[in-house]
Amino acid sequence: MTPETFLSSAPPIRLEYWIEGRRLATRDVPALHERFEETSEVFSCNECQSVWAWIYYPNRHWYYVYQDCPRHNTRRYAEANIPGSILSPAGWELDSLPLSVLKWEFEVHFNETVRRYNGNPDSR
Ligand SMILES: [Zn+2]
Repeated sequence: MTPETFLSSAPPIRLEYWIEGRRLATRDVPALHERFEETSEVFSCNECQSVWAWIYYPNRHWYYVYQDCPRHNTRRYAEANIPGSILSPAGWELDSLPLSVLKWEFEVHFNETVRRYNGNPDSR
């Protein structure tokens, strides 16, 4: 048996996307495509310190991400900071995200774009 045969017969790794206390989606990653550097991520708000989202990656340690929740905007990290977004500024593979997570991201990016366009940084 080759490593490829063994790994392709292994069960997939099931990621879970939780946002605001709701499991928005799961995504199965084939064991063959698992990347060593992946971690589970927990998103904590810069202002209210609440844990408002997490991405659970089985058997991986938790990595803390300080990111504004959908209700707060500390404007930390300026343009890159989209409150409520769980996308990594380092670049996510958008086409691998579950549709419900993409919809969530569209909504928070759209809301932030409208807010900036209206030139009222404090309107939420
Ligand atoms: Zn907050």
